[in-house]
Amino acid sequence: MNVASPMPAAPVPDAPILEAPILEAQRVSKRFGRAASLLERARRVHPPVICALDEVSLAIRPGETFSIVGESGSGKSTLARCLTALHACDGGRVLYRGRDLAQMPPAERRRFHRRVQMVFQNPLAALNPRMTVSEMLREALRVHDICPADQVQAQMRALLERVRLPVSVLDRRPHQFSGGQLQRIAMARALSVRPEIIVADEVVSALDVSVQAQIVNLLITLQDELGLAIVFIAHDLRLVRHISHRVAVMYRGTLVEFGDSEALFTQPLHPYTRLLVGSAPTLQPGHVHAHAHTPTGGTIAEVAATGCVFRARCPDAMPRCAAEAPGLRPIEAGRAVACHLFPDTAHPAAADTVTP
Ligand code: SF4
Repeated sequence: MNVASPMPAAPVPDAPILEAPILEAQRVSKRFGRAASLLERARRVHPPVICALDEVSLAIRPGETFSIVGESGSGKSTLARCLTALHACDGGRVLYRGRDLAQMPPAERRRFHRRVQMVFQNPLAALNPRMTVSEMLREALRVHDICPADQVQAQMRALLERVRLPVSVLDRRPHQFSGGQLQRIAMARALSVRPEIIVADEVVSALDVSVQAQIVNLLITLQDELGLAIVFIAHDLRLVRHISHRVAVMYRGTLVEFGDSEALFTQPLHPYTRLLVGSAPTLQPGHVHAHAHTPTGGTIAEVAATGCVFRARCPDAMPRCAAEAPGLRPIEAGRAVACHLFPDTAHPAAADTVTP
């Protein structure tokens, strides 16, 4: 394993044959505000509203790894939380197998929460510190009625085997584990309810490079063995390139480009994607630095009211970019970019490609 370049050893499973999406975001928007302070109320000033997501659309297909990349504050985690119904959308909708989450009756909603599982960046905060691993897994199996009581022990052992942990961990509590072990436990708990999608939100960001590779390899293996779809949210392009079938790039709450992983990394189109790919050292032959230089920019609150969200940093900006926001425009089948540098008339072969 090259420590400076955490390439997964496990091969990425073949891209799945195109099927109907299982999870979709359709023009999803999310805004965050805060209550006005006394001073603001006295002055009749409205506190700023932050646009975390602006009409983002995407579709996850069975068995694929769909990665969402972008800088901190680009809206990736907010999107993950909308996809898993941890946040309600302010606009648009999320569909699970064609059904609007907001319209689902409680029983169907429970099924959704079982089938779409999220694993977080900080598993220590997501796991109950007072419960042993055994108690956590047992509770998940019982609440969702996954197996008869006399099979729970065998089921827990099988789950630990899947995530490559010994059964001796069953009697231990979260604070007794390393970061990598905690992520494996979080995965075991997610797998215990037999999901079809795992939304992995920056699951390796806080880990050592060598442990990152182990966790990414585990995700790939689990996907291969169980046919899971994985939504992989990350800012490390070195990992994303090697595990993804498709990639979406976000900037300040907006989806600016998407496409097949290899095409996007070898020929990035949007100026922001070019900046991201160009600044990831191990994607560039000849780079020797151990850490990617992440291009920095403003915060989500600085989002311009009109025009392209990237125009303040764009080397190719032109007058039109300040006046008109570029919508996503299809480039070829499975590829689209939101930039005025590209014609907004669709190529016939890509006419349906406005949603990743
Ligand atoms: Fe740059 Fe204009 Fe394209 Fe935005 S629309 S990325 S400012 S060229």
